[in-house]
Amino acid sequence: MNRIELLGRWTKEKSEELYGIKNWGADYFSISDKGEVLVNPYKGNASAAVSIMDIISGVRERGLDMPVLLRFENLLDSQISYLNNSFNEAITKLNYKGQYRGVYPIKVNQQQQVIEEVTKFGQRYHHGLEVGSKAELVAALSLMKDKEACLICNGYKDEEFIDLGLYAVKMGFKCFFVIEIPGELDLILERSEALDIKPNIGVRIKLSAKAGGHWTESGGDRSIFGLNMSQVIEIVDTLKEKKMLDCLKLLHYHLGSQIPNIRDIRSAVLESARVYAELVKEGAPMGYLDLGGGLAIDYDGSNTNYTNSRNYSVEEYCMDIVEAVMSIMDTSDIPHPIIVTESGRALVAYYSILLFNVLDVAKFEEYKIPAELREDTPEQIRNLYDVNQALTLKNIQECYNDALYYRDEIRDMFKHGRINLRQRSFSEKIFWNIINRIAKEKHKLKFPPVELEDIECAIADIYYCNFSLFQSIPDSWAIDQLFPIMPVHRLLELPKRDAIIADITCDCDGKIDHFIDLHDVRNTLPLHELKNNENYYLGVFLVGAYQETLGDLHNLFGDTNVVSVKINPDGNFDLVKEIHGDSVADVLTYVEFDPKDMRTSFRETAEEAIRQGLISARERRDIMSSYDNGLRGYTYYES
Ligand SMILES: *Cc1c(COP(=O)(O)O)cnc(C)c1O
Repeated sequence: MNRIELLGRWTKEKSEELYGIKNWGADYFSISDKGEVLVNPYKGNASAAVSIMDIISGVRERGLDMPVLLRFENLLDSQISYLNNSFNEAITKLNYKGQYRGVYPIKVNQQQQVIEEVTKFGQRYHHGLEVGSKAELVAALSLMKDKEACLICNGYKDEEFIDLGLYAVKMGFKCFFVIEIPGELDLILERSEALDIKPNIGVRIKLSAKAGGHWTESGGDRSIFGLNMSQVIEIVDTLKEKKMLDCLKLLHYHLGSQIPNIRDIRSAVLESARVYAELVKEGAPMGYLDLGGGLAIDYDGSNTNYTNSRNYSVEEYCMDIVEAVMSIMDTSDIPHPIIVTESGRALVAYYSILLFNVLDVAKFEEYKIPAELREDTPEQIRNLYDVNQALTLKNIQECYNDALYYRDEIRDMFKHGRINLRQRSFSEKIFWNIINRIAKEKHKLKFPPVELEDIECAIADIYYCNFSLFQSIPDSWAIDQLFPIMPVHRLLELPKRDAIIADITCDCDGKIDHFIDLHDVRNTLPLHELKNNENYYLGVFLVGAYQETLGDLHNLFGDTNVVSVKINPDGNFDLVKEIHGDSVADVLTYVEFDPKDMRTSFRETAEEAIRQGLISARERRDIMSSYDNGLRGYTYYES
């Protein structure tokens, strides 16, 4: 959208439209009359909304610095209810005879607090857990109390994993081993015999259906996990032979995460339901059809089948699944199974917001080009100057090409000593003046040249921000995932600057120059000018899924501070839990430094400096205390 068209008084409605908050906010996020972003887990109850700026004040009073990850436990609660209620409504409406049992896949956000809350809030729906490793099973068993909920074990299983799962069955848990590769069955049968506990067995299949999205390899024929149909039949035969076919109770597939197109979801459900029906005909008791994850989040709010979006609602997702399963079962006269899904992203994405402050801005400065050139100006610089004079809307592509050509020529001349530094500097001013004018003219064209697609980036302001992309939103870097980003205050003011965001790592990959847009992807984000002595806060939204645990220690920026917020129905809020982020000593320990040894070694260096007369003993004390402060400090920019 062109902000020039929106002249006149800037309003919160204009900010809502500009940042798309109503499209991606799922009614959890909105803008207040004061121009601040509000969070409200109780969709219908407007008086429960809390301003993020008030939370920031609370966080600062507790002495916690930015960046901070806010977790809203009520949002997790709301999403669990929403998913379960949507399935239950579909079941009632369609008169489906089975039930819905969701499980939360731990890998999507493995923080203890998240799993604890899922088991707590999920209990009223018997919402269970999905684990993909021994460590996750150990974690799940420490928190799970509900024997009605499912505990699904995917992943490669060794003897310890299997023994623990079998004991879980013995203790009354609905624990299933899903066979992902053919070899796993033998070990399961062997341990089952040794411990005299009958396992609940499931099989994971590869579907021929393929889906679009980032993770298209997870589901289809080429997926590395799952059994093809002849392997499924071999498992059935082995179980029959051992007289254990009564253990085969579940069929599973996972199409991949963030499936944007409902048609892909539907065709996978139909195919798997057919396999399920056949397994019942083979004599397996079955009972559970586990459709994996894939329920997508509309990150850009466009409601399309674009990778960062989805072309369906949660209600449609549930209706389509129940209807598809039912249609297959009814044609074969097979009892309706319990439908299991493993939605992770959809449950936790809304739950966390990353907040940070802007440290500094590098503005694009416009240069005044002199009306006349000096006598001694070299020919190539004159040519560039002429390009600037000749630029009009009609010839922008040509002028762009010429400008690049002369710029390169001038750089070459500089390398060979044929022009001096001042001349080169002058030529760069002319060059950037041309680029700036082209970027502005471009908007007047109906079909701007493809080459000029992201020319705005070149002249955007750079907002340097206090966070690490690699640590806090790794998918932004790794798979170009888009997250909604916007200021959390000043939303009654016109955002006059066009910016890209650079993180604190000073790594050229540590930047964000793609932002959500309803119709496209935008290259710059409209932001406000910084004010003196006032922090400017930005929020990255919908970062609850997959971001927290993928983060690495790029440049040794560690975990951020985390604050858990509980919003009460009356609009008050409690900061229920705060977790201090990593100190410098912490992150150094992760890469096997020993802070004690480091301190000793640095003290020796300081002693040596005293002996050489470079510093006094008193100065040594100050130097050591500043080293200690550094070790104890937060890894991010502290104010
Ligand atoms: C990752 C994963 C999920 C979660 O998928 P979402 O799209 O986040 O819901 C579910 N099941 C399995 C087997 C997975 O590997």
